This record gives sequence, structure tokens and C-alpha cells, in this order.
Amino acid sequence: MGARVLSTGRPPFPRLGGVLHCGSHSLETLADDHDTPLYVYDGARALERLSAVRAAFAGVDLLVAYSIKANPNLALLKLFADAGAGADIVSGGELYCALEAGIAPGRIVFAGVGKTRTEMGYALKSGIRGFHVESSQELDALASVAGELGAQAPVAVRVNPDVDSPTHEFTRTGHAAAKFGVSPPRALELYRRIAGHAGLRAVGIDVHIGSQVRDPGPFLHALDVVLEVAGRARRETGTALEYVDLGGGFGIEDAVGGEIDLRGLGREVAARIAAAPGRAPGRPLELIVEPGRFLVGDAGVLVTRVIYVKRSGGKTFVVTDAGMTELIRPSHYGGEHAIVPVREDGHGSPRQVDIVGPVCEQGDFLARDRRLPLPRPGALLCVQQAGAYAFAMASNYNSRPRPAEVLVHGGRATLVRRRERYSDLIRGQRT
Ligand SMILES: *Cc1c(COP(=O)(O)O)cnc(C)c1O
Repeated sequence: MGARVLSTGRPPFPRLGGVLHCGSHSLETLADDHDTPLYVYDGARALERLSAVRAAFAGVDLLVAYSIKANPNLALLKLFADAGAGADIVSGGELYCALEAGIAPGRIVFAGVGKTRTEMGYALKSGIRGFHVESSQELDALASVAGELGAQAPVAVRVNPDVDSPTHEFTRTGHAAAKFGVSPPRALELYRRIAGHAGLRAVGIDVHIGSQVRDPGPFLHALDVVLEVAGRARRETGTALEYVDLGGGFGIEDAVGGEIDLRGLGREVAARIAAAPGRAPGRPLELIVEPGRFLVGDAGVLVTRVIYVKRSGGKTFVVTDAGMTELIRPSHYGGEHAIVPVREDGHGSPRQVDIVGPVCEQGDFLARDRRLPLPRPGALLCVQQAGAYAFAMASNYNSRPRPAEVLVHGGRATLVRRRERYSDLIRGQRT
């Protein structure tokens, strides 16, 4: 793990007069106005993080393609669209959301191992920047769809660099046994086929090694591998690429560690790109990065109310109105989110507690073995780093309506998605 690097800029969600705020809005007031559980996003923070990424890679021609799956809320997408960001999508649904938000199709790249022909046709007609192809069969399907539409599909091969990134087993994607990408020799083969096909055009090369990776090392190793493949594709197939896409996965600070040294990584990446053969003499490769969590992770929190405190089997359980249905990362990936009281009331010394939800699953917890001043029923807790992979992975399991989302931006707090009602639970069904 890299050295602990504290996150950039002002801390989001400051404590003012003992109460956590988003901008000038008290999380207590927002919870009273909109009920709990509640997701609250700080728009200024998200844009600040976009600027931080741009500053870190200042030495290169850069496109930041926000990885929509981290948080597809339309209001956030619109903020990024207006700031000139692109999008990394993994489904037709995400393409639809990106276009609805006004993200330019020429700034959208499409990854994923199971793109359907329908999704390919939709993306091709929309004029996206690149299809990040992950297998030989997928390339055939894309060529056939392009042929039917009389179009030429822009392609980047997603390379599996076989690097081991030190992150959870489920968020590691760059080792040889992962389902993602193709090996370097296979990638070369694909570039050879692209060069010989009228319906395909090689525009880039792509890699994505995993998520919440704090060490710059694996990113640099992966970049070396893809630049090597790009060099061979140029020499052996005459392919001149426009861009190299380094993927996302830049780690942020959470309850157990600091964030990646993105500036340090940016300097190293810029040096390697400057040294690599470019698009044309004097025109270095464009760099695409696909941060999701890094842009929105700490720009969002989940506000939850304590329902009961229960002691059993020698343990203390704090039962909250949010659980795995609102934040599945702790049980699915071992995610460690910082959890703090919304109001610091000075009562009680910290106790060791499990913070659990109301869902009927023993795996339903927000955090285990945490030290927390014992809250009273009715108290509000703030689950931090809940801007990414929180609402995005929320479900209706146990027939729980999904919570509301509020965006604070430009001094205003706006309800950007209303809380689901019971009637939403049966929408589209018939007996
Ligand atoms: C999920 C994903 C990302 C973003 O990952 P983060 O950890 O949120 O930065 C980027 N690219 C691809 C292809 C992905 O699947």
C-alpha cells in the first residue's frame, strides 16, 4: 500500500457548531426535510475532484471519462457534462443516461465483456468515441453490426496486463484469471484483424486494473504493458492509435487508508506517454482516464437514523434505517466506510459496536467492530464515502423503497431523485 496521502482540498461535509453540513446545509435539516435514509451529494466537491484529476495529468492531452456506474444520478452527470467531462459506460442504459445528461457522444467510451448487438447498434448510431472490445467473439459481433449499419466502428482493445492490484478479490480486474480484457498476444491478433476489416477502425488501447487501488505501481506496470502492445501493433500492423485509456480505480481515503498519490502517478504517466510513439510526429497519444469513485466517492454521504440499540451475545448492535439495500459495499467487498455521528453531543465514551441494517440477512451491516459514542435511538449517523457504489447498487430487497438523493450545489439543496413510494414497488407488475 502507498503512503497515506490525505485527500485534496477542503474536507467535504464539515462540522459546524457540532453538526455535519454539506456546504451551508445542516445534514440534520436535510434529514428532517427529506426523511432518512438519505443520500446527500456535494456538487462543488465532485467538480473539485474533476479539477484535481485534470491537474494531476496536466502534462498530457487528457479526456476524463467519468465512470457512470459509480453514480448515475442525472444531476451529477449534468455537472460533469457541463464541465466538459466524458463518460465511461458499461451498458446501453448508461449510454442513455449519459446522452440525456448532455455528455458529448465523442467523449463516451464503452467497456464491458457482454455488450449485446442491440447495445452496439445503439452506441454506433450515437457516434461514441470507442468500443473497448474484450474478446474475439465480441470483435466479430461488432464488425457484423457495423456492416449492417454501413458504419465503421471505432475500436480499442482492452488488454489484460496480468498485474495484481492489491484490492479486494471482487474489485481486481487486471490479473490473467479475471474475465476482463485479452492477453497482449491476443490483443495484437485483434489489431491485425481490425486493420484488415473495412467496418472497424483501431482508435485506441485500453486497460482497467481494478477499483480502490492506492498504489500507483500497478497502474504504471499496466501502462507499460499496453504501450508495448501499441508499439508492436504499430510496427506489425501499421496501426497508429489515437489514445491510450488507463481506466479508473484510483483509490480514495476511507476508514482504513489514505488516497492514491495521483499527482505522482500523473507525472510518471506523462513521462511515459511523451516517450511513446504518438498519433503522428509531434502529436503524442491522448490519455483517457475513467475515474468513478475518485470523482464522487467522498462527495456523497448516506445519512441514516438509529432505530434501536441492542445488546446480545456480548455484542452491541446499533440498528439503523439504512443497511445493505442502501450500501452493499461493506458486505459485498469488505468496504470500510467512516461512520460518524451527525451531531457531536459529547455524551458517552466510544464503545465497540456493529452498525447493522434492518434487512433480514446476517450479512446486512454497514460496519463491524467500530468504536463509536453509543448513539440513542433517533440519532443520525453519517456514512461517509457514499457518493460512489452506494445508490448505484441500491436494491428493493425486502421490498424497501429506495431513498431520496439530494444535491447541494451553488448554495441550494435540490431533491434530485424523490424517495420511492410503496406504489413504486409494484409498478409494472400484474396479478
Ligand atoms: C468500474 C470501472 C471504472 C471506474 O472504477 P472506479 O474504481 O470507480 O474508479 C473505470 N473503468 C471501467 C472499465 C470500469 O469497469
